[in-house]
Amino acid sequence: MKSNTDSERANEYCSPDLKRPANYSHRIPMSTLMALLALICFLSALQVGGWQKAGIAAGAPTSDQGLTVLVLNNAVDIHHETGSFYALSHLLNEMGIPFETPNWYTGFSQLDPAVYPLVIINDYIDQGETDPEQENYLNTYVTNGGVVIAPQVMDAELQPLFGVTGYSADKQKFFIEFTDSSDASMRYINRPEEMTIRLGHPITYTEIYDWVGVYTVSSDIEVLANALNRDSVSVGPTIVKRTLGSGQTYTLGFSFFGLILRSESNRDPEAQRCYIDCFEPSADVIRLFVRAIYEEATGGHFVLKHTVPGPNDSALIVTHDVDAWEAYHDDPDPDGWGQAVTCQFTDLEISLGVTTTYLFTTKYITDDYSPAFWYTPTVEYICDKGFDCQSHSVRHMRMVTLPIGTCSETFADYDSLNNPTLCGELKVSKELVEAVTSKPIVSFRSPFLSFHRQLPETLEKVGYQCDSSFSAPDVLTNYPYVLMESTLFTTKTNIIELPVALADDGLGPDNVEEILDKWKTAIDANAENNAINVLLIHPSKGLICESDPSCRNAAFKLYAEQEIIDYARGKNLLVSDMTSFCSFWRTRDGVRIEASYTGETNRITYTVVLTNTSSETISGLTLALGDPICLESHDSPYAVSAVGNKIIFEQIAPDQTTSFTAAICYEAFLPLIMKNY
Ligand SMILES: [Zn+2]
Repeated sequence: MKSNTDSERANEYCSPDLKRPANYSHRIPMSTLMALLALICFLSALQVGGWQKAGIAAGAPTSDQGLTVLVLNNAVDIHHETGSFYALSHLLNEMGIPFETPNWYTGFSQLDPAVYPLVIINDYIDQGETDPEQENYLNTYVTNGGVVIAPQVMDAELQPLFGVTGYSADKQKFFIEFTDSSDASMRYINRPEEMTIRLGHPITYTEIYDWVGVYTVSSDIEVLANALNRDSVSVGPTIVKRTLGSGQTYTLGFSFFGLILRSESNRDPEAQRCYIDCFEPSADVIRLFVRAIYEEATGGHFVLKHTVPGPNDSALIVTHDVDAWEAYHDDPDPDGWGQAVTCQFTDLEISLGVTTTYLFTTKYITDDYSPAFWYTPTVEYICDKGFDCQSHSVRHMRMVTLPIGTCSETFADYDSLNNPTLCGELKVSKELVEAVTSKPIVSFRSPFLSFHRQLPETLEKVGYQCDSSFSAPDVLTNYPYVLMESTLFTTKTNIIELPVALADDGLGPDNVEEILDKWKTAIDANAENNAINVLLIHPSKGLICESDPSCRNAAFKLYAEQEIIDYARGKNLLVSDMTSFCSFWRTRDGVRIEASYTGETNRITYTVVLTNTSSETISGLTLALGDPICLESHDSPYAVSAVGNKIIFEQIAPDQTTSFTAAICYEAFLPLIMKNY
């Protein structure tokens, strides 16, 4: 595994006068505005619903259409595999898809397309696992318009429903390659990195960890993806769709567990195709495939918890690891870097009007690696200005092999030099930064992104809530997620992971434009998926400057940050900090949704009830609906607003239930068209 190392960065040179290209212009000519208004009138005259999805009929049920997914949970109820259940529930929570999980034995009798437009069977279905009554329920559900997703259908009695006649699996499948189908489930699978995904490193590994199968198929199906062996040769269909009556079935040759939970814990067989500053969506593709099927199953009139607080498509989370001498200290040399580089970043960010995260290494000890550089006046300078101040350990060591310690370590008794521990690095750095900021320190990043296997539960134990110690490509996802404890996928922690996608590794004046291009490409790709981007820029001049006297400052890094923030804003991204975003994501997980819509001849009305089941107030929860809507009513004591297809809640208090109704309105098309212009 390649490591993201601030100590190993090389070839960094400094240049004081990098030129910025001209800013984008977003002015829209009046003639274009008139054309847009004409388009709105045209759409209005058509009286269509589900505007986002070409080819979707107006679909106008006369009674309520439920929008909740039913999960038939054989993982826990039959196989006693909590990991498989966490895998699917993580996927659905990350995508913001509302779902219910009844008991496996009684769930089949609840199958009704008008209540549950989509049913997902959680885990593999073994021979004899379903009985004739359950099979009959499923057949009737699909025939009447329901949609079913099921992984690894081995039960011969159930296979005909899915249009398959056999299944064979091994651990020799290293890739999944989607076909060029125009099926709605492929809506988000458009980039080359998404069209083929990787399950394991085909050179390092002779087999992957999880069974992946291919199906023999009947004639009335569509193959949506094939499995490839380690030589990238197709060995048969692994995602198969069948249409039956007015419903559809999708069967997968692989488990949710392997692609979602295993990779979130970085226990995958090195499936990532790159490590940093690149777009690696191998596991996101499965999330997006399910999301697209949900959107289609609802006729395009869906309700999702949006991945970002507010109307933005995506977010750029700007973070800094403060882990170098020049980050903390001014340079007395008039030709040097000047003010402590961290302070230069905060001054830039104040001028840009953004709040970012500073993760402080509280290195008060000189060791063989570097002198002590912890300097509280610099910390005060930054934190007093309202920036998000957090921890990046005490001594900036590789964490992987550290003993855990007792978690009773304090600054007074911790011997970081001779007896470093995981607990000590987490707890004492927290203590020191808290002493300066007088605020709880809840966010952490491991030095070198060196992930100790017991990090999740140890973070929780000493009072953290948020972590950013994985690279996003390494865990194959660009969405935040809940970390599991280290032991066999059985226990959730309360820690939200925000994996790092973009970093200044090797960034220098000579390659700043090249790296900016990589960042922009990843931002564009993630925005299409409503995934996010965590950016790491070290407020330092770069290691090469220590031996290169021509290297004076960190101007190219300041330039890169300003450039990428401008770009992100131009692309409708929220620019935010780590702790706020983690807080949003954690409380978002606790919001339960009951949603339905009623279709009339020319009018879709959504009715949604939200309940905050967490003990915290959630700010900025946003729902993404399938249609551009206007609010008709709500009962929240706080502000609720509609923008395009989004509904934004200023606050939802703990245990508060809020409901609203909203209907398609053609005024709401305008912000969407303007945004996409
Ligand atoms: Zn570091």
